[in-house]
This record gives sequence, structure tokens and C-alpha cells, in this order.
Amino acid sequence: MTGIHLCQPDDSKSCAACCGIYNYVKNTRQQLVERLRLRTRLFSLVRKGDVSISTYREVLRHREDQRRIYKTIYACEFVGFLDARETRVGCMLHPAQNDGHDMRDIGFYGKKLCETHLCPSYYKLSQEEASVVVDVINDWYLYGVVVTDIDFVKSLFSVVQDRIGESINPDVVVSSEPLKSAFMRYFKLKEYWPFKDTTRARFGKYFFIGEDYDIARIDYASIGASTSPYDAIFMSLSSAFRDKDALDSANRMIDMIMDELSTEYTKAYREYNRYRT
Ligand code: SF4
Ligand code: SF4
Repeated sequence: MTGIHLCQPDDSKSCAACCGIYNYVKNTRQQLVERLRLRTRLFSLVRKGDVSISTYREVLRHREDQRRIYKTIYACEFVGFLDARETRVGCMLHPAQNDGHDMRDIGFYGKKLCETHLCPSYYKLSQEEASVVVDVINDWYLYGVVVTDIDFVKSLFSVVQDRIGESINPDVVVSSEPLKSAFMRYFKLKEYWPFKDTTRARFGKYFFIGEDYDIARIDYASIGASTSPYDAIFMSLSSAFRDKDALDSANRMIDMIMDELSTEYTKAYREYNRYRT
């Protein structure tokens, strides 16, 4: 359980995953930037009274690719950028965006659901896990993808803590730029993983066919391999391995990242404690 406000933790990023931004078939960083930029500009005209809500919706229906990965989950048309620098994404109907006027009843879920919803990350991530994600990532696109993948974060903690022989202290993490960079190398795998399964619609370990979804397990036996110690990480990264060589390369990539993380953590820990003993 974490007390950190995961949705809008600070000025450098925010999350809008449960409003559906990653549920579009076209959900790369650039595709989402273009989608959210158009909405933000158009909604500023709604605020001025130059465009009606129905026109706003109509324009988006024509201009946006509406295809969703998981059809059962709604993707709300009122997510936009919340600041001019385009660092935070979120609800353009929220009272903080409209001089105190709460417009969320216009949305599909309605105000009550939107204002009370907390995703599983609030309950499942520990304070330490949430702190490290919030302290290290300053980028809305990556932040939303990582903070909502509980397995991906917990697997990282589990592997690194096994190697360093103690719990990760978020204060040690923020004290060292090389250590933060090492964490970022892991988190960035979510965007640049070379072994990503592109043959079907995926969200991390899940795959979707119409209204159905299931966990996409990796069939190690079919490539003559045994289960990787990084199996949970590979599933979170939506992996598919064409052969054992590909799996070996993936194992080496994660090994290197974990080696670097434990080395940098140990250095940072020594430095952090040097002035405290
Ligand atoms: S997915 Fe979780 S952290 Fe992200 S906006 Fe929704 S409730 Fe907040
Ligand atoms: S109306 Fe609800 S679902 Fe839509 S962007 Fe706002 S908070 Fe998200």
C-alpha cells in the first residue's frame, strides 16, 4: 500500500492509464502525443465557449483512430495535456482544469466513479516501490506504463534485493544519478524491448482477442529451453522468443541491467552512509 498520489505525483509527469490512453491500437509515444495535443487545443475552444461538447466529440470521432486493444475497456476522449509543456496528462474535465467547475459528469464513467477510482497499484505497490518509480521517472508516457505494471516493478525489486542482500532504500536511489540512470535503463525496456510480441494485441503479460483476454505465458519447452529466472519480467515486457538464441540474448540483457543496478546501488549505499555513521 502506498500513500503517494500515483495519478499526479509531481510537476514532471502524471498517469492517465485508467482513462484508457494505452488502450488504443495506435499507442506509441508519438501517436499519443498527437492525439492528446489535438484534444487539448480543441478543448481550450470548448472552455472559451467557441466549440460545444458535442462538436468536440464529433471532431474527435472523425479525426482520431478509435480502434481499441481491449474493446471492453473504455478509452475516454477527455484525457489531454494538463500543462503547456505537455509534461502531465490527465482529465480535462477536472475542476482543477476549469476554475473549480467539475465537468466530469459529461464523461462516460461520471464524476463519482472518476473521483473515487484508485487502481491496484495503490494497494499492491509498497511505499518503497512506488517512491522509486516516482523519483526515477520524469516522463508521463513511461511513467504510466511502469507504475501500472505491478509485476514489472515487484520483479525488479525482488531481483535487485536478492543481489544486494537488503531492501532497496529510496533515499539511497535518489542520492545517486548513476543509480537513477541504471533504474531508467530497466524502466525504458517497456518502450524499447527488442523481443516484444507484435503478432497480437498485448498489455504486458495479457493478450486480447475481442472481448476475451488471458495471460500469454512463454512456451520455453518449444524452443528447447528451461524457464528463465526473469520469466515474470519477460511476460511484463510482452515477450516472444523465436528460438533459444533470442532467449539467451534477452537473459543477458536483463543480467547486465541487474548487474549494473546492484553495483551502482552498492556504491551509492556506501556513499550515502559515509556521512551518517
Ligand atoms: S492507473 Fe492508477 S495511477 Fe494511473 S491514473 Fe489511474 S488510478 Fe491513477
Ligand atoms: S472523465 Fe474520467 S475517465 Fe475521462 S479523463 Fe476524466 S477522469 Fe478520466
